Amino acid sequence: MSYSIAIDGPAGAGKSTIAKKIAKEKGFIYVDTGAMYRAMAFYLIQKGIKPSETEKISEACKEADITISYENGEQIVWLNGENVNPYLRTEEVGNMASASSVNRDVRIKLVELQQKLAKTNRVVMDGRDIGTCVLPDADVKVYLTASSKVRAKRRYEELVSKGENCDIDAIEADIIERDERDMTREMSPLRQAEDAVLLDSSNMDVEQVVKAILDMCAQ
Ligand code: C5P
Repeated sequence: MSYSIAIDGPAGAGKSTIAKKIAKEKGFIYVDTGAMYRAMAFYLIQKGIKPSETEKISEACKEADITISYENGEQIVWLNGENVNPYLRTEEVGNMASASSVNRDVRIKLVELQQKLAKTNRVVMDGRDIGTCVLPDADVKVYLTASSKVRAKRRYEELVSKGENCDIDAIEADIIERDERDMTREMSPLRQAEDAVLLDSSNMDVEQVVKAILDMCAQ
């Protein structure tokens, strides 16, 4: 039987860390929808298309065949037959994903893929529009957020641990800009679904958030 947990929220709120743990705990699959938008963005970058070239994006997205599979519980995103996971987590791809995800044709294509996955699997799916648009009938809906300062600090620490050089104020400015674009776009903007539970993780650790969501599932 299908069962779905939808986790939405702004960039850097900890959605993927939390969703992965819950999926493991429940034996569900974790669907990272941001990675699908990132794969599409990676394709557009390779094609030399700019975020402002709306018509080219609409045309090019038809040629991008995006599918996902699982290996040891890890989601692998395939773009026209190539595993593109190693290329998705860069700032360049993230910024392009944020810009190209406003495109209607991109969204229609990826939402269809996400809905298909949820129909045949028990899923923990995270993104921006899961509870409001992709899975409006999800069994559990969470809106996970944290202050932009806390989110920037987490992202900064993640990058530093990978040996990257970065500036925390620039990261915070980037996060705020991305949230603004996600919240104000015309098609399926980021917002809390009416029936979603708000969790602010600014002062919660990962285990506390995971427990709160598992408790919701048990109710
Ligand atoms: O979550 P992540 O940072 O990987 O997502 C990259 C971008 O993809 C986001 O900034 C957002 O603009 C877009 N996105 C979206 N809808 C989703 C997931 C991601 O618009 N369900």
